[in-house]
Amino acid sequence: KSKGKKQAKSATKDVKLNAVLGAGIMGGGIAYQSAVKGIPAVMKDINRDALDLGLKEAATILGKGMQRGKVDAAKMAATLNAITPTLEYSTLKDADMVIEAVVENPKVKGIVLKEVEDTVADDAIICSNTSTISINQLAESLEKPERFCGMHFFNPVHKMPLVEIIRGKDTSDDTIAAVVATTLKMGKTPIVVNDCPGFLVNRVLFPYFAGFGKLLLDGADFTAVDKVMEKVFGWPMGPAYLMDVVGIDTGDHAANVMAEGIPERMARLDNDPSTLMYKADRLGQKNGKGFYNYG
Ligand code: NAD
Repeated sequence: KSKGKKQAKSATKDVKLNAVLGAGIMGGGIAYQSAVKGIPAVMKDINRDALDLGLKEAATILGKGMQRGKVDAAKMAATLNAITPTLEYSTLKDADMVIEAVVENPKVKGIVLKEVEDTVADDAIICSNTSTISINQLAESLEKPERFCGMHFFNPVHKMPLVEIIRGKDTSDDTIAAVVATTLKMGKTPIVVNDCPGFLVNRVLFPYFAGFGKLLLDGADFTAVDKVMEKVFGWPMGPAYLMDVVGIDTGDHAANVMAEGIPERMARLDNDPSTLMYKADRLGQKNGKGFYNYG
């Protein structure tokens, strides 16, 4: 007769209020997605302009929905009302779940995660939307790493179905269950993956970006590459356009983190075109100039 440990099965936490840290490309999209699916979201940034942009993005997505007859005025108002922009940590204190989406910098994220833990309730769940930084490394800044995991949305959040949920070595099963349930409630498809540089999707995507960079150094024309990948190969967007959508700065930070994590596979070139563009302040769609110019 087996003497298996009895495990008390606890109910999965029902997330009724989300908080999103960072109102950039991703934070704005995540707050919108939460609100539109009926989970109100507090959205915090350090910058008033960023909060305005985050809200504007939500309004733009809803406006397009109205044009297509998929959203009515009441839904638009309810969704926008369900997003509370703030510059104050104290507004986060009642959140059941916090999704950190600040800049892709381990130091900044470490500080922000600690500040979050000091603010929220003991049983609140804390997630990071990092693209590449180790969840175990980020967990070191927390006192209760069991309530922490990665929750990696893709850009643009309202269109991309996948969410990678990244289990750190200390993440509890209850945390994973609650994040899976919340992902489904937010209308997305969760997959649970282990912690490694780039997780699953960026492990595939970043070698592709690196290969594209090398092709440019060999003299390829980026518009021709995009055209082939889009029109002939059939992908929704080519690598140059995709890098502009992601953000050249964010992509460059992420490529550095991957190079540190797996140097034998992802070592960077000094003259990587995306690094040169980042230094020249060509950040992609977010500042109107990347591979392409945006009006
Ligand atoms: P972004 O540059 O558009 O936005 C970052 C925001 O964080 C800015 O508004 C900035 O003001 C804010 N911020 C900085 N420090 C802060 C702090 N201490 N507290 C609160 N807000 C702060 O960046 P993004 O593209 O939205 O990326 C955010 C995160 O999402 C990164 O970890 C990135 O790797 C990840 N991510 C990005 C993409 C993408 O395609 N851009 C996709 C998936 C995941």
